[in-house]
Amino acid sequence: MSLDGKIAVVTGGGRGIGQAIATVLAAQGAAVAVWDLNPEGAEKTVAEIRAAGGTAIAVAGDAADADAVAAAAARTRAELGPVTILVNNAGINESEPFTSLSEESWDRVIRINLKGPFLVTKELVPDMVAAGWGRIINISSSSAQTGAPAMAHYASSKGGVIGLTKALAVEFIENGITVNHVPPGFIDTPLSRQSIDVDAAAAFMPMKRAGTPEDIGYAVAYLASEEAGYVTGQTLSVNGGRYLF
Ligand code: NAD
Repeated sequence: MSLDGKIAVVTGGGRGIGQAIATVLAAQGAAVAVWDLNPEGAEKTVAEIRAAGGTAIAVAGDAADADAVAAAAARTRAELGPVTILVNNAGINESEPFTSLSEESWDRVIRINLKGPFLVTKELVPDMVAAGWGRIINISSSSAQTGAPAMAHYASSKGGVIGLTKALAVEFIENGITVNHVPPGFIDTPLSRQSIDVDAAAAFMPMKRAGTPEDIGYAVAYLASEEAGYVTGQTLSVNGGRYLF
């Protein structure tokens, strides 16, 4: 599988899962625009990609703000070209029991996790329509498949991402654009370390380990490939067999 000549955007590519996705896509030959709120994180990912011989640019900005998204897209097109691979990965989690969950926290999580993918996709999908080819991969969450305590807002936002995936898969099916989602299970990242004792929790996983960000990166690279062209509207769960038993 090769992504030579493709231009990709990875939102939230400055650390964790997004960083690994950007690195894996670049290793397959894609030129990657690493979008992140945190400029240092985006620069770090880009430095790693360039050190390995890949092509990448860092673009700082809020992926849930329409003006920032338009500016990021303009820079990406000017420096790399029209975008045909989009990975909507940027997301946040704010663990909070439902009875004390505030309206502000609900709005913040829905804005970044669900409105963000809407805005970024709306901005970039015309490039894919023009090319007659595109790959959109949304990073959802196992919490929207099973439910999870103290995550009503987060699971709702990710459930929305799954609905968005299926709706867009159908809407763009005649444009050569596939739209799929990857729900990670329990992945060792700075975000999961905020709320879980990763090493203790790993003992309860069927494989006795947390997933790595690269586990998600390789799944995304497959969905981004030419070879995955007959796969759309689908779920590629990467969770170490968590729901098998
Ligand atoms: P992380 O917090 O380690 O990294 C997220 C990155 O996104 C950070 O660099 C952050 O600066 C960036 N970001 C956040 N909000 C942004 C915004 N509005 N605009 C641009 N960039 C923004 O998180 P992670 O664990 O790598 O998670 C990545 C994605 O995977 C998220 O969507 C998350 O919900 C999902 N996910 C993670 C896990 C897990 O176990 N880690 C499980 C299921 C789903």
